Amino acid sequence: MIHFIGAGPGAADLITVRGARLLGEADVIIYAGSLVNPALLEYRKEGCQVYDSASMTLEEVLAVMRETEAAGKTTVRLHTGDPSLYGAIREQMDALDVDGISYDVTPGVSSFSGAAAALQAEYTLPDVSQSVIITRMAGRTPVPEGEALRKMASHGCTMVLFLSTGLLEEVERELMAGGYAPDTPAAIVYKATWPEERVFRCTVSTLAETARTNGVTKTALITVGRFLGEDYERSKLYDPTFTHGCRKGIEV
Ligand code: SAH
Repeated sequence: MIHFIGAGPGAADLITVRGARLLGEADVIIYAGSLVNPALLEYRKEGCQVYDSASMTLEEVLAVMRETEAAGKTTVRLHTGDPSLYGAIREQMDALDVDGISYDVTPGVSSFSGAAAALQAEYTLPDVSQSVIITRMAGRTPVPEGEALRKMASHGCTMVLFLSTGLLEEVERELMAGGYAPDTPAAIVYKATWPEERVFRCTVSTLAETARTNGVTKTALITVGRFLGEDYERSKLYDPTFTHGCRKGIEV
């Protein structure tokens, strides 16, 4: 059996209870060493074999899984954040299907949630934005034309950019071409929830400069939008005059 597990964004105690239990039972752990906090390996049992996938190919990862499976043992494939986002798990699952090897997936706390926590922010404020676009700047990995950053930016909603810290000049240009005003609030969140977490608040037009000044080149998320500003309407849900399924509103 193979367990794909979301490790969470960094802090070792942000893995799920299920994820931690499965890690503790694993005979083999293959973890994404470039992004997963090694402190998570402390959940492993004695004698557990550990592989860092950072220097491995898909074929090498699959070879370890097949070997472990043939020996009747359990593998945990530990991915950063939540495995469904930029986790490259589909290609592993499809290969396991071909081999008839069973697997399951345990979700994790994504770094975009970790970043909101670091910012002490809410992405979806009434009257500000009710949508979050999770995307990336096209780089060596292309992005489908219909999802070009300037098109996504045209909505003006909350945006979270993964994998784009090395391309911030282009990010700024595309965001402004798409319609964000240069002074739209933005923030770079470096290593959200890790001990070395840093938050840099800036604007859309100062993203590149802010990253440069602070030496941020990777392991960061770019968040953009007026959710980082001052103004918003309070929620209807908790408004005393608003009636809903669980509460009758008062008249004023
Ligand atoms: N599946 C992961 C994302 C993997 S892609 C998740 O759900 O979070 C790797 C990218 O995620 C990095 O380049 C960076 O942009 C972002 N990232 C991962 N962990 C992060 C963290 N703790 N703080 C900020 N960004 C992070």
